[in-house]
Amino acid sequence: MAQGEFELIRRYFAQPALNFYKNSVQLGPGDDAAILSVPAGKQLVVSTDALNSAVHFPVDADPFLLAQRCLLVNLSDLAAMGAEPLAFTLAISLPEPDEAWLEAFSRGLSVVAQAYQCPLIGGDTTRGPLSVCIQVHGLVPAGQALLRRGAKAGDAIYVTGELGDAAAALWWLMSDPRLNQRALSRDVEQAFKQAFYQPDIRINAGSALRGIASAVLDISDGLISDLQHILDASSKLGTTLGAELDARLLPMSEVFKDSVPPQEQAKLALTGGDDYELCVCVPPLLETEARAAMALLAIPFTRVGTITGEAGIRLHSADGSEQPIDWQGYNHFV
Ligand code: ADP
Ligand code: MG
Repeated sequence: MAQGEFELIRRYFAQPALNFYKNSVQLGPGDDAAILSVPAGKQLVVSTDALNSAVHFPVDADPFLLAQRCLLVNLSDLAAMGAEPLAFTLAISLPEPDEAWLEAFSRGLSVVAQAYQCPLIGGDTTRGPLSVCIQVHGLVPAGQALLRRGAKAGDAIYVTGELGDAAAALWWLMSDPRLNQRALSRDVEQAFKQAFYQPDIRINAGSALRGIASAVLDISDGLISDLQHILDASSKLGTTLGAELDARLLPMSEVFKDSVPPQEQAKLALTGGDDYELCVCVPPLLETEARAAMALLAIPFTRVGTITGEAGIRLHSADGSEQPIDWQGYNHFV
């Protein structure tokens, strides 16, 4: 974006609400690059996620809410590593320099940036189809990051928060006829909007689980699909891990239970995605400690299953029957 590019950057991105002081940020926006220093005993944790209009969010999404979602889903990856936010960069592509849109977008960004003390330290602003690419940087005590690869047979599988709200929110955003219309009051719609655009990401949970959890990831594609990543990463030569999940234990919000038909609930909660809750594996001897740490933070923490030494994910259904997950069948609902 040539004309007025620098003025736009200065007004909406290189400004105090987003470039506030943070220890370890030596240089923010304005030069050819930013400078971070990594304190002794810490490691830098880096992750990036691009969100494209029409693919990841509706074309006419509210820019104030959209900005929050873009930064939150990136910060969720830091949570899943047990890292604390340090700073972020933003590469944004815009069809036109719409000032009202930019004003609301930068305000949304600053709400989340300030809440998580994660300033904007640089980026790139270009003309093109609407797309937002954020890179987050975080710090973790050296050697203590939470990885996907430490789970063992016998470990308990927990999730934070509740599952399925964001998937139900997507049904709501797309006016899916499966949603129980009678249950859709303004409060419910507000809850769905919040679940989709302002997920309650789990930075504090991730930090508190360092040294306790054997494997962690954040649930972005649905528990079934993401748990498989933990199983793949944790299986070693000669051992293939699997899991047993109990559909009856899945934590679901009241709003979700009121508005999603009972026969669709487990399926949507397991495969819908966009939860940004943590899936946490815990060795049996550390379960009490893990539960206590989450209780101290008042974060719902629910055991939903167990890691097994047998390949595949088996699901105990609500009707008590036990069945292997039919991937083909489940993929239709993703
Ligand atoms: P370059 O000449 O290196 O391409 P740019 O014109 O892209 O520099 O950016 C100039 C300065 O503005 C850089 O410090 C860059 O980090 C910052 N900047 C550009 N776009 C953004 C943005 N969307 N958010 C934050 N900082 C930005
Ligand atoms: Mg540039």
